[in-house]
Amino acid sequence: SVDLQGRTAVVTGAASGIGRACATVLAEAGAKVRVLDLDAERANEVAAAIGGEAHVVDLTDPHGGIRVADDADILVNNAGFQVVRPLEEFPPATFHQMLAVMVEAPFQLMRAALPHMYAQNWGRIVNVSSVHGLRASAFKAGYVTAKHALEGLSKVAAVEGGPHGVTSNCVNPGYVRTPLVEKQIADQAAAHGIPEQEVVEQVLLARSATKQLIEPGQVAELVLYLCSPAAAFINGASLTMDGAWTAQ
Ligand code: NAD
Repeated sequence: SVDLQGRTAVVTGAASGIGRACATVLAEAGAKVRVLDLDAERANEVAAAIGGEAHVVDLTDPHGGIRVADDADILVNNAGFQVVRPLEEFPPATFHQMLAVMVEAPFQLMRAALPHMYAQNWGRIVNVSSVHGLRASAFKAGYVTAKHALEGLSKVAAVEGGPHGVTSNCVNPGYVRTPLVEKQIADQAAAHGIPEQEVVEQVLLARSATKQLIEPGQVAELVLYLCSPAAAFINGASLTMDGAWTAQ
């Protein structure tokens, strides 16, 4: 088991889904976890459940979280959201917001945390990217662009951080059973007039060889592994967890 006693972890978007699962496993491994989210009620609930601290921050202001991160040993950049629209109709303000939350905020949080990580010659940055950091899908201009940019940022942090004992990696899940995806399933079922199970099997998992939604805890275990001593040489990687979607 991974021992993170004495480590402070900042997890963004930790009030729900994958972030919540990451906050939970990191706390179980002994880390002091800061639950950063814009949803105050659920952030407080998660923090109370895991014995962590809630920090209510809206990362559409990319500077919002930097004070919370300046003594972080572990930084999990997880906050994100999805908007599905054809490119020619994609609202520019939404595009900008997606880049702010999924690229600029991780950049600002890394800037804040790296001096502390370098000073102690240890740090772990995990960026929750997506299959859409490596592949495109129609109607996801903001999301695909943001996740591809996050991939680049993660690699720069890896190259610069390596000599200072800091690793930076992306995890790249396929579809995970979270509120974000449950909303997509319900929207598409309504739009196409087909049952939700059909949306899952025919639409979302059309390119997964495993044909199952991933559970948030499975992504969290991979994030925890990246914080373990065994993963010290995994740096600058993008680890897919996608039922062989990107292998095809
Ligand atoms: P979710 O909607 O369940 O949780 C996202 C959390 O981020 C929410 O608590 C939300 O309040 C928070 N958040 C959103 N915007 C924020 C902002 N401006 N400031 C602060 N917090 C904000 O979603 P999830 O499915 O758990 O997604 C988490 C991450 O995983 C996202 O980056 C998403 O792109 C990525 N991801 C999800 C899937 C999936 O299938 N669910 C697949 C691949 C990658």
